[in-house]
Amino acid sequence: MKYCSTRGGVKGVSFKQSLLMGLGSDGGLLVPEQIPDVTPQLEHWRALDFPSLAKELISIFADDIDRATLDRLVDQAYSTFDHPDVVPMRELGDITLVELFHGPTLAFKDVALQLLGQLFEHALAEDGRHLNILGATSGDTGSAAIAGVRGQPNIDIYILYPNDKVSPLQELQMTTVPDLNVHCVAVNGSFDDCQSLMKAVFADLEFKETHSLGAVNSVNWARVMAQVVYYGYISLKFDEPVSFCVPTGNFGNVFAAFLARKMGFPIAELVVGTNENDILARFFHSGEYARGDVHYTLSPAMDIQVASNFERFLYYYFDCDAERLRAFMNDFQQKGEAHLERPPTDAGFLATSVNTEETVTTLRDVYAEFGYVLDPHTAVGVSASKKCATSGPKVCIATAHPAKFPDAVKRALPEVDSRHPTLDALTNKAERKVVIEPTVEAVKALFD
Ligand SMILES: *Cc1c(COP(=O)(O)O)cnc(C)c1O
Repeated sequence: MKYCSTRGGVKGVSFKQSLLMGLGSDGGLLVPEQIPDVTPQLEHWRALDFPSLAKELISIFADDIDRATLDRLVDQAYSTFDHPDVVPMRELGDITLVELFHGPTLAFKDVALQLLGQLFEHALAEDGRHLNILGATSGDTGSAAIAGVRGQPNIDIYILYPNDKVSPLQELQMTTVPDLNVHCVAVNGSFDDCQSLMKAVFADLEFKETHSLGAVNSVNWARVMAQVVYYGYISLKFDEPVSFCVPTGNFGNVFAAFLARKMGFPIAELVVGTNENDILARFFHSGEYARGDVHYTLSPAMDIQVASNFERFLYYYFDCDAERLRAFMNDFQQKGEAHLERPPTDAGFLATSVNTEETVTTLRDVYAEFGYVLDPHTAVGVSASKKCATSGPKVCIATAHPAKFPDAVKRALPEVDSRHPTLDALTNKAERKVVIEPTVEAVKALFD
């Protein structure tokens, strides 16, 4: 399998090259040059458990890793999950919930990042290379990235986050990891400062080269690939095509569902549930992609205006026409908006935004009816699924354990104390972090 960039400037890249490249060198996102058709395999795949299906599917995309090695990496990645089914399902009346939060940091990003850590380490060890991963986080992604690479001998990870501006739990999930290849960096500034600092350091190509800097951001192709597995796996548990409802921020998760459907898995509509940051919901109704102001909500991992994986969807919507895509993205970059000639009603997506009140009501209703506590992101998805008319069984994606978001849960359900032993254990652990001023020099000095 070879990979190319959505913007047309990169072609014929192998899986391992795409893994280490992250963002395409032309500024585009890497995608497979052809989407494989898996329909002939589906009947056989119905009987497989999650790790076995992961091996089958990923071996198609990562065909430059030998099968025995790949199988071992997949087994290692999912051995860290605390449920034998890895991605268990739960019935809540007429919807089925898929719990993707059984990994080490209790959020769905672990499904991809546990595997990504294994893949990175393998690719680096093979070439005798060492990589310094530099990332910036406003909360969730940092801990999942750290959990993915902790203890890997050929990787050091440096995560910048705004000092005193991430939740205490989120900070502890990063700073209590004891492995010495993990470096937590609290920056005296905002999340935007962290991101600009990271960009400035990456822009110094000579520094980047001499210090072997790399990223594990949300546009890495391997993250999407790992996420395709659970959509395929769940769709095969049903006798008719299912619709998936996905709480959406960067469009990475729901894009994986789109790809699973394109590959031939029996999937009907995809519901994009956003919070008040509704740029994507507006797009699917009107065809207009227009940046708005960022709203801070109960579902902070979705407080995003510009969805970094959306470009991959547009590329396929434009029938892989890189030129048309470039024109659209240039328009958006220059004017803050771009639009299609007509609404994309034929793309198989439904979309709706869910406000704070609806999120709180959904948390309460589901608890009252089933005694089950949703996390606020999942509640956005469940609420969206109720607002959209889909065909076939409704499957909602549960992206985090509620104990990660105690304030939101308290607000909706004051009588509920949602806990998780992994989080309870954090308060007794030793913390390690450095605090720096928001300057490029201070970030560069971390690598001396
Ligand atoms: C990252 C995240 C999301 C959004 O997923 P995208 O792939 O960015 O659309 C939703 N919920 C939680 C808990 C997350 O951490």
